[in-house]
Amino acid sequence: MKVFKFGGASVKDADSVKNVAKVLESQGFQSCLMVVSAMGKTTNALEEVVDLYFKKEHYDGKIQEVKAAHIAIAQGLFRENHKVFGEIALFFDDIDSFLRRNKSPNYNFVYDQVVGCGEMISSIIISEYLNEKQFTNQWLDARDYIKTDDSYREGNVHWAKTEAFIKNLRPDVSYVTQGFIGSDDNNFTTTLGREGSDYSAAIFANCLNAEAMTIWKDVPGVMTGDPRKFEHTELLSCLSYEEAIEMAYYGASVIHPKTLQPLQQKDIPFYVKSFLQPEKEGTKVGHHNNREKAETYILKENQHLIRISTRDFSFIAEDHISQIFNLLARYKIKVSLMQNSAISLALCLEDKFDHTDEFLGELSGEFDTEIIRNVTLLTVRNSNPETAGIHYQNKNILLEQVSRNTVQLVSV
Ligand code: ADP
Ligand code: ASP
Ligand code: MG
Repeated sequence: MKVFKFGGASVKDADSVKNVAKVLESQGFQSCLMVVSAMGKTTNALEEVVDLYFKKEHYDGKIQEVKAAHIAIAQGLFRENHKVFGEIALFFDDIDSFLRRNKSPNYNFVYDQVVGCGEMISSIIISEYLNEKQFTNQWLDARDYIKTDDSYREGNVHWAKTEAFIKNLRPDVSYVTQGFIGSDDNNFTTTLGREGSDYSAAIFANCLNAEAMTIWKDVPGVMTGDPRKFEHTELLSCLSYEEAIEMAYYGASVIHPKTLQPLQQKDIPFYVKSFLQPEKEGTKVGHHNNREKAETYILKENQHLIRISTRDFSFIAEDHISQIFNLLARYKIKVSLMQNSAISLALCLEDKFDHTDEFLGELSGEFDTEIIRNVTLLTVRNSNPETAGIHYQNKNILLEQVSRNTVQLVSV
């Protein structure tokens, strides 16, 4: 089987959904499992619903807004009175009645039950549309296949159970299912982390021993830098799994960082291609031995730079570091870069769950801390020493780390 993943940008409106059918026409849709994301910015809008709910503010208007956007898309795809309109309405009623009945104060749990609906609605619309256009497919509820623990908003996949369920799929059937979501042992919805649909596709690909996986994006493939942020970027036509893992790890958002490992483990060729130009080659990720490594740039914004030092001028020792990292793990704060000296530790942090103040509070008993919020981390891979000076221009650099083939600069 082959696995396709269509992200939010590729299904953001009715014309985009029609374009998905065109991509399938050019690529074939036999024995294909297709993973889809929520449409356009639906995930952000549903996040707002959850925020309003927890602030005890009116969330109904926002739900109606998201519902109207989906109905408008469906109107561009289906005849009046199609059953899909009833199905869409039912999903939004379910979100509303879940929030009315909910007693759980657990933000992350409520988040997953509500935000995961974006993928459910999107996959139903797309599956129905493709069936009408003779791309015969069976709709799957990914929560019956991808099993995770109950770490809401960051579910950890239970591989043995997941594989056992996915192995029941039939290679002679094509399927449409959701990215981003799974379920825990109590069958509550869990999500795999923002932008996690690439990872969902890789989980299916791994468990199906897929012949290939393709993610369809609004860019020609993996470029030397994000074309929205850097000028003069070029397409990387071949990438080794290792180089792709490194780029994703440092924050190249075109591929979710967890996506590569399940593919590499089974040697599954992986393509990143443009849904606007499906006939073009795009990027192939696999077992390449790239001798000439291209210089690549990765920008991570909204980071915090924290300096932690001992009060009594004693050294930052192993026990301090382990204490600090235990707290980081507890608050799910990710370290993008670290640098230590005798009496201080500098950390560039990514705090998706907004726990930095609590983290600093816990440290304040024993350490002095200093924070600069909203810094930017630029990572240059395979940096060319002759032209490296350019990365330092017009920047207030707060921290620099240079290793054999990677330069990292934190600046404001
Ligand atoms: P999806 O629709 O699947 O969610 P994303 O928006 O997550 O797609 O990923 C595509 C975006 O990734 C591009 O629009 C681009 O701005 C960004 N991007 C970041 N780094 C790169 C890179 N090195 N090459 C190409 N695109 C990149
Ligand atoms: N819809 C989810 C998000 O926007 C997952 C994904 O698109 O990959 O984060
Ligand atoms: Mg995305």
